[in-house]
Amino acid sequence: MTTLRNLPSVEQLLQIESTAHLIARFGRPLTLDAIRLTLDEIRTRFKSGLLVDLPSTEFILTQTESHLTTWTNSTLHPVINATGVILHTNLGRAPLSDATIRAMDSVSRGYSNLEFDLETGKRGSRLIHAESLLQKLTGAESALIVNNNASAVLLILSALANKKRVVIARSQLVEIGGGFRIPDVMKQSGAKLVEVGTTNKIHISDYQEALIESAGLVMRAHRSNFKLVGFTEEPELKDIVETAHKFDVPVVDDLGSGALYDTAKYGLAHEPTVQESMQAGADIVCFSGDKLLGGPQAGIIVGKKVLIDKIKKHPLARAVRADKACLAGLSATLTHYLKDEAEREIPVVKMMSLTLKQLQGRAEAWRNELGQGEIESGLSTVGGGSLPDESIPTFLLSLKVKSVEKFLKTLRKNNPPIIARTEQDKILLDPRTVLPEQEGALLVGVKNSLKT
Ligand SMILES: *Cc1c(COP(=O)(O)O)cnc(C)c1O
Repeated sequence: MTTLRNLPSVEQLLQIESTAHLIARFGRPLTLDAIRLTLDEIRTRFKSGLLVDLPSTEFILTQTESHLTTWTNSTLHPVINATGVILHTNLGRAPLSDATIRAMDSVSRGYSNLEFDLETGKRGSRLIHAESLLQKLTGAESALIVNNNASAVLLILSALANKKRVVIARSQLVEIGGGFRIPDVMKQSGAKLVEVGTTNKIHISDYQEALIESAGLVMRAHRSNFKLVGFTEEPELKDIVETAHKFDVPVVDDLGSGALYDTAKYGLAHEPTVQESMQAGADIVCFSGDKLLGGPQAGIIVGKKVLIDKIKKHPLARAVRADKACLAGLSATLTHYLKDEAEREIPVVKMMSLTLKQLQGRAEAWRNELGQGEIESGLSTVGGGSLPDESIPTFLLSLKVKSVEKFLKTLRKNNPPIIARTEQDKILLDPRTVLPEQEGALLVGVKNSLKT
């Protein structure tokens, strides 16, 4: 009769050569944990009658290995984005340029002069990095980099408008996503929200009336993720600035994406640029590092030195500061703009600039390699809370499959996972967002999925 006594002991299992391989891969303590867990599971199942025969040693070790891989596998790993959504927030927004990755790698590997003045040999400031690049690119007097744009907005309001009135158009009380709502951020910062105008219309006189009583700031927030159309009106930023300045009140412009280039060049709507806001006279402009800019996650604050100095001194500035990898990476991305090589070097800009001919060529090459599918014209989108409703024509490879849901699931199980789009009973793959170095892996993955 089979009894638990026949189950190999931990000691016996440790004598086996394949256990030695597991120890080499995962370390001794973790391997021991996994062996003990596996043996416990077998005992429990055996006692409850779920298991009639004791499993082989080989099975025990396979089970042990499976525990070990589950425990040590990172939950965060690369995927192939074949959706055609360029700034896919759920897929990590902007992929980075080679120079950006190199810069982040080199400051992370060793020590750096993050807060060390190489001239004097004394303590320096991390706040100077990327500042001169931003001054050159935007014409701003001063700049500050923080963790992301949400923290930039919170910091600006906390530092400049705590207990003060902040005047903002009702149509700009937006929710960015992930629960980030401008009115809630205002409350958090201690600012007093003063909404002016109506949902669809705001006039310069609305600002004027609100500013008769003293205010800390006038704020403008870009409607990043929706459009206001029809019977609408909103003054130009330069007129808002002119009015606010008459009352000695500074203007903050939360641009959201904040492009440094004209997106209209790629057949999209014009996304307000940082340079335009600076030229219109905004005192502070903030925007994301990883939206249309195409860099690492960051919140970038540019503007008047007196105000930025005040922001830098606020205690929250320390809590939301950028780390060295971010500062190094962002500097490298900004340098691409300075050298006028953004289109060639920054992946998101490159993706926007791909021609229909290039996209068609790639989709056709994929079809030839797979031996099936149709080339269809379709649309890529920008995503990431930028340019709502805007799309760029593209060519897609469309595959007919039995069950789209099952096929999508198989694609997601690939290593690396492939994320695709569907339309009715078709799987759509957009070459625009698939990085050239991922094409090989994509085709192998799709081929294997078609076989299952
Ligand atoms: C996206 C966005 C933010 C938040 O930026 P993150 O970098 O994602 O933190 C804030 N304001 C506006 C208008 C945005 O579009």
